[in-house]
Amino acid sequence: MPEGDVLRRTAAALDAALADRPLVRADLRWPTAAAADLTGAVVLGTRPYGKHLLTRLDDGQTLHTHLRMDGRWSVVPTDDARAAARSPRVRAVLASADATAVGDGLGMLDLVRTRDEHTLVGHLGPDLLDDGFDPDDPTRTGLPPGRSGPVGIDAPGARPSGPGLDEALARLGAHGDRPVGEVLLDQQVVAGIGTIYMAESLFVERIWPWTPVAELRDPRRLLLRARTLMQAAVRSGRPPGRVHGRARRPCPRCGTSVRRGLVREPPMERPVFWCPRCQPGP
Ligand SMILES: [Zn+2]
Repeated sequence: MPEGDVLRRTAAALDAALADRPLVRADLRWPTAAAADLTGAVVLGTRPYGKHLLTRLDDGQTLHTHLRMDGRWSVVPTDDARAAARSPRVRAVLASADATAVGDGLGMLDLVRTRDEHTLVGHLGPDLLDDGFDPDDPTRTGLPPGRSGPVGIDAPGARPSGPGLDEALARLGAHGDRPVGEVLLDQQVVAGIGTIYMAESLFVERIWPWTPVAELRDPRRLLLRARTLMQAAVRSGRPPGRVHGRARRPCPRCGTSVRRGLVREPPMERPVFWCPRCQPGP
């Protein structure tokens, strides 16, 4: 499943294709939105939030999409044959005069008033990649300021103010008995982490994935580790691959065979990869 870094890069690609331009074609192949006509609306920008995308229009509407397991947005020239997007998997087509964004295999699609964005993402924890998540980190990975303005969930007072890190730590702390690997995947604690950044940040910090949250020595450092790993992948386009997906291959630090286990209960279980020597259990 795409994680926060992929969503940032997708939002940037959608902005490059559509932002500040009117839609010359909009085709929403989704039962609840098929009748909507967005042609002529100007795209203000796409705001990524965790694993969600909020594409804001100047008519006061927001198109919400989610990639779920294997969805993707791709951009092709509007005069290219691929812009017809004839595949039955395509769920949305948004075209400016020059570039067409094709949403393939999208797992969610909603059209809401921008001021109602909170009904879609308001329950989520802070976005790990948001500017201002860590007040000590000047790195900017969000939207260029001003592009889509302080609207919707970004309007003053729409969400708890202050550093997201503090709020995420408070939400993390409310799950003291649960395994950290499981809680990092909980989008209501912090938004954007999936199985890749869960495993990779626990590996770097040498934490056994089933450690109860209450026993973590430095949860702040762990969240910031996930954030810096994800920021690096936003820049490079390559997720870290030290342990994730590397079962039975040697740990890059000590050479021990990487193991694959599970967090969460069936049917919601997800894989976790860890080094039994670098991340020993009790
Ligand atoms: Zn190791």
